[in-house]
Amino acid sequence: MSGDVFPLQSPLDGSALAPVVATLPREIAELVRVARSAQIKWQALEISERVDALAPLARRILARAEEIAELLHREVGKPIEEAALAEVLPNADLVDYWCDTIEEALETKSVELDPLTYPGKSGRILRDARGVIALITPWNFPVAIPLRTLVPALLAGNAVVFKPSEVTPRAGALVASLFDGLVPAGLVTLVQGGADVGRAVVEAELDLVVFTGSVPTGKVIARACAERLIPCSLELGGKDAAIVLEDADLERAANGIVWGTFSNAGQSCAAIERVFVHEKVAKEFTEKIVNLTRALSSADCAVMTTKTQKDKVRAQLDGAIAAGATVLAGGAPGDTGHAFAPTIVQMEGESGASELMTEETFGPIMALSIVASEDEAVERTNASRYALTTSVWTKKIARGNRLARRLKSGIVTINNHGFTAAIPAAPWTGQGETGYGVTNSAHCLSSLTRVRFVLEDKNRQKRELWWYPYTPVLRTIAFAMARLKGGDRGFRRITAFFQLVPAILKRLFARG
Ligand code: NAD
Repeated sequence: MSGDVFPLQSPLDGSALAPVVATLPREIAELVRVARSAQIKWQALEISERVDALAPLARRILARAEEIAELLHREVGKPIEEAALAEVLPNADLVDYWCDTIEEALETKSVELDPLTYPGKSGRILRDARGVIALITPWNFPVAIPLRTLVPALLAGNAVVFKPSEVTPRAGALVASLFDGLVPAGLVTLVQGGADVGRAVVEAELDLVVFTGSVPTGKVIARACAERLIPCSLELGGKDAAIVLEDADLERAANGIVWGTFSNAGQSCAAIERVFVHEKVAKEFTEKIVNLTRALSSADCAVMTTKTQKDKVRAQLDGAIAAGATVLAGGAPGDTGHAFAPTIVQMEGESGASELMTEETFGPIMALSIVASEDEAVERTNASRYALTTSVWTKKIARGNRLARRLKSGIVTINNHGFTAAIPAAPWTGQGETGYGVTNSAHCLSSLTRVRFVLEDKNRQKRELWWYPYTPVLRTIAFAMARLKGGDRGFRRITAFFQLVPAILKRLFARG
């Protein structure tokens, strides 16, 4: 069944796309076995050797910039400029960042041990590779999203079994090909197919699943991982909000919010889907965004990558209009083609409870609501079960920072929106049903590596204080220590000290 899951026509213009061969679910176990033997050798290398192997990747990505952008244009339907700016240039920075920082991030760290409590002992925290990682990704950023895990995962000593979305298998194959000849065979294993292949990957003998995609699939994967007691990292849907306060630079806010809503036709987990504008500036701001949106040309706009997505977005729009929302720009498209005009709807009547406000839309629709205060904006933003990124637009940065603390949101940007996924040092993460995964920054290594502890003991004593036998003297020591460490104050604490010293001497030298 896998063979016919791949689209064969470009969403842009219906032109033919190259056929793709699917992996059979029954082939996965053997591929994982090969990946594991490659991983064991790869992990044994010095980190600097792995850095040397992967450093040329940055130049490779840049040298293939036009090819990558052209493929994304045809397979996803993005404007070439968007593809180059969001999915080529940041990836070169990503490689450089990780090659520069991975040695320090994985450095063995010693643990301070009090020599009185733990004589002769020293401890070290090690970070080892997790092992073989499954990487399952969506279609909306099919180059950038996988690379954000592949690069640190490989540098940390892992092998990766990579299943791109069945909607963008060619972009997936391109990503895998970037590693050809840089890392040993078996270290990056590409598997192609739909949900059946994804399920087979999750069921294979892996050590971690890194998943980016929808909430329902994320929950299925979380359950499968729980059954096997392996960790998973989940980066799921979003319903981002932008809050425009009465002291915002309206020109900048309008430009930024129109871009943050409509780039990639809103098919971004961090697309602005809800805008809350303060009533004092609502009229002026609305005029600006409506004018900017109407001025967008087809060259500025991605198309809907799949027909299913177009239909889903149109159904949400129809539902909001039926509930009283007013269309200010754009509107529902016809049945043919994948284009969907950038659309602004003002939420009125009962429309605030419609799916356009409560479910992820993943399409080019801005739901605009007028609020009476910043408190109302915060409350309505936080009402979503998704919580990826939120932007606050204000000239008063301190006010923006105060609001940032009150927002339920993995990422808050003040006077900007959504682009921080391109900053490799900035954690990309959500809350609520957006999931708990982290990509980018050293924080992602919590899932990509295993933390371990090694203790060395050079103590020459024949036994430790806490070893057998348990005696009344040991009991005296335990409670005297509790009093001395803070259980008692003043004079009683001093008496604890005079109890403790002879008891310890007795314990150590008279076997008490
Ligand atoms: P999806 O859940 O339909 O598919 C994602 C991947 O999972 C695909 O590769 C698919 O083949 C695979 N899959 C499907 N069923 C599976 C199963 N049972 N077991 C294993 N794998 C399975 O999502 P999509 O439509 O490709 O992507 C859009 C979603 O991704 C949106 O909800 C979007 O918000 C989210 N997303 C989130 C982030 C983030 O950083 N939080 C980034 C990009 C996209």
